[in-house]
Amino acid sequence: MASEKQAALATAPSDADAPTIFDKIINKEIPSNVVYEDDKVFAFRDINPQAPTHILIIPKVKDGLTGLSKAEKRHFEILGRLLYTAKLIAKQEGLDDGFRVVINDGPKGCQSVYHIHVHLLGGRQMNWPPG
Ligand code: 5GP
Repeated sequence: MASEKQAALATAPSDADAPTIFDKIINKEIPSNVVYEDDKVFAFRDINPQAPTHILIIPKVKDGLTGLSKAEKRHFEILGRLLYTAKLIAKQEGLDDGFRVVINDGPKGCQSVYHIHVHLLGGRQMNWPPG
């Protein structure tokens, strides 16, 4: 979607600890449609869904992980948890015939929110290559 790309290009990569809109969503200052929560991970439906199921899976504590390109060894566990949670939610959502996970990184990756997040997309046939 062109506007999503424009939003990404208009968003400067932010400082490691700069708050984003996702902090307000985690803290429930902004309402969201929550599908999963535990002590480390939070997952909610994307406000601008690109598929019948479109869920964002994020760490509750960013710890400098604005995007995948900023990953350090200390992030091994949370990165695994994010992907494993995507699998759990895919099952919970009934995406038994397949789904896609995406991590956009940086302006060229179309990232618009600098708090790492896994997109879980499903409920329709995906295409390849992606746009
Ligand atoms: P990115 O482009 O950074 O990979 O993905 C950011 C995602 O966050 C986009 O798909 C966008 O629709 C979603 N998003 C941005 N603001 C909000 C919001 O306030 N609520 C929800 N639920 N999703 C949001």
